[in-house]
Amino acid sequence: MPHPDTWLKPLPQGLYCEPGGFFIDPSRVVDRAVITHAHSDHARPGHKAVLATRETLALMRARMGEKRAGGHLQALAYGETIGIGGVKLWLQPAGHVLGSAQVAMEYRGTRVVVSGDYKRTPDPTCAPFQPIACDVFVTEATFGLPIFLHPPPEHETARLLASVALFPDRTHVVGCYSLGKCQRLIALLRRAGWDAPVYLHPALLAMSLVYQNHGIPLGDIGPLRMTDRLAGAIVLAPPGSAVPLAKNPLIVAASGWMRVRQRAKASGAELPLILSDHADWAELNRTIDDTGASEVWVTHGWEAPLIHAAGQRGIKGRALRLIGYGEEDDPSVAAQEIVA
Ligand SMILES: [Zn+2]
Ligand SMILES: [Zn+2]
Repeated sequence: MPHPDTWLKPLPQGLYCEPGGFFIDPSRVVDRAVITHAHSDHARPGHKAVLATRETLALMRARMGEKRAGGHLQALAYGETIGIGGVKLWLQPAGHVLGSAQVAMEYRGTRVVVSGDYKRTPDPTCAPFQPIACDVFVTEATFGLPIFLHPPPEHETARLLASVALFPDRTHVVGCYSLGKCQRLIALLRRAGWDAPVYLHPALLAMSLVYQNHGIPLGDIGPLRMTDRLAGAIVLAPPGSAVPLAKNPLIVAASGWMRVRQRAKASGAELPLILSDHADWAELNRTIDDTGASEVWVTHGWEAPLIHAAGQRGIKGRALRLIGYGEEDDPSVAAQEIVA
């Protein structure tokens, strides 16, 4: 059986499956791309052919426009298998954002799973992560340090609602990423009993409509209007964007990075909420173990601590050092993405 490193290779464009002739989440324009999810650091415009879930393709179209989303777009449902150049491939939920998928590949008797970005904490806006048994597990390590242990999301939503109750005359302006974080926060607020309208910046509204079109209920959402009563309202906007209609705005930031004091300070937020769409340290390690893989390859993030921890459990580690990933959850970068 050929070892997976003979047929799956990190190239400057990204991870390349040689017998299949495709890249996974390439950072440059390629002929054939398999895309794990629609975040801008994974789904780049202009590939000749794109294979992804139906939801990811819809989000890519909404974000980039039909033409830039790619030449030939092919949808693959979760669990549906296809053969490409002798490689059996299928997609499985990654629990990261709507449509996010792990890419499972089998070639000549070995199986590799590329996780893409993922989390294990339940998220009402996307299908839950499903561990797949494999020989090599390719993981991200955005929060691959033992200090990263995310609090329960309900805890953070409760902090936001407590602040709204405490300052009923102020508009709470929550800076959050347009794809994933925004919709998850709305869904969490609905679960916590907030049934008032949630006002959205246009970039966030476009993504939220795709969610609603794919059966994810978000309740009463819409753009801000002059006539709306904004004292005590919750407005979601890209981090750092101006919301001129807001009344005595109270700035909130929602990101996994808010766990880091300097980042929380730099965000300028009065109320930093720790809300991450990436696995924390415990989830990363549990997931590696769940796959039963004898080898773990780390695409990006804090790879050294994770590889060290896996090594102590007898799992061989390898840092792929792929470039161009991992910043969509960083609020300072997210703001630039919206402008681009
Ligand atoms: Zn992502
Ligand atoms: Zn990412």
